This record gives sequence, structure tokens and C-alpha cells, in this order.
Amino acid sequence: MSNISGSSSSSTNVHERGRVVGVPKRCWSGEAIVAKNSKSDHNPNRRYFRCVYAAGNKLMNDNHVFKWIDEALLDEVETMKEFISETMKVEKKMQMELEKKMEMELEKVIFERIEDVKAEFKSRMNKMIIVSVLGCMIIFGLVKLI
Ligand SMILES: [Zn+2]
Repeated sequence: MSNISGSSSSSTNVHERGRVVGVPKRCWSGEAIVAKNSKSDHNPNRRYFRCVYAAGNKLMNDNHVFKWIDEALLDEVETMKEFISETMKVEKKMQMELEKKMEMELEKVIFERIEDVKAEFKSRMNKMIIVSVLGCMIIFGLVKLI
């Protein structure tokens, strides 16, 4: 059984290399990680992750992976929170971009419709002018004939 003593704060310098964020997957030494129960007076029965090699050889004040499980899980929660907030930021940005794009599309469509209506109106006006001019000419011609 491993004999980790002292609080995590007193071991920060020693465990510099063994410090990890979140749940450790593997020690830098290439060894797997085991979950163990602390037997220390400071942290009785507190669960921790430890390098298999360091645990097997009962190493102390080494720099192999050591991480309290509750702290590791807290890290994971923090990471998840950050991930969620980042994802939400990205989604919000994408939604805003989409809304802007849709607004621009809509503007374009409306503008095109206005142009269409204008063009149609113009061609109708031209037809009306032609028809009335022709009408006038016919009337004028008829008047002349009489
Ligand atoms: Zn190790």
C-alpha cells in the first residue's frame, strides 16, 4: 500500500511534473493509473489517482502522477463548463451570422421584387403610351377622313 502523506498544497512543488488537469489517463513514465485510498492522517480515506509504478514501489516525494479524485472530477466539471460555454458562444455567433445572411437574402429578394414590379410597371406604362398614341393617331386619322 502506498503511503502518501501531507496535504496537496505541501506537495505542489514536488509533484510539479506529476500534476495533471482532470482525470489522468497515463503517467508521463508510461505507466497506467490506479485509484487508491489515502491512508494519511491529513486525508484519511480520500481517493486518489496514482501512477502504478509509483504506487507499487511506494514512492514518496516523486514526480509521478498523483491526483486527488475529487479534484480531478472537479477539473472535469470545469472543463465541461468551459466547453459548454465555448460551444454556446460559437452557436450564438453562427446563429447571428445566419440571421444576418437571411436578412441580407431577404433584402436582396425584396429589392429584386421591387425591381421586377418597377420593370413591369414601366413596360405597362410604355404599352399604355403606345396604345394611347396609336389611339390618338387613329382618332386623328378618322377625324381627317371625315
Ligand atoms: Zn509514473
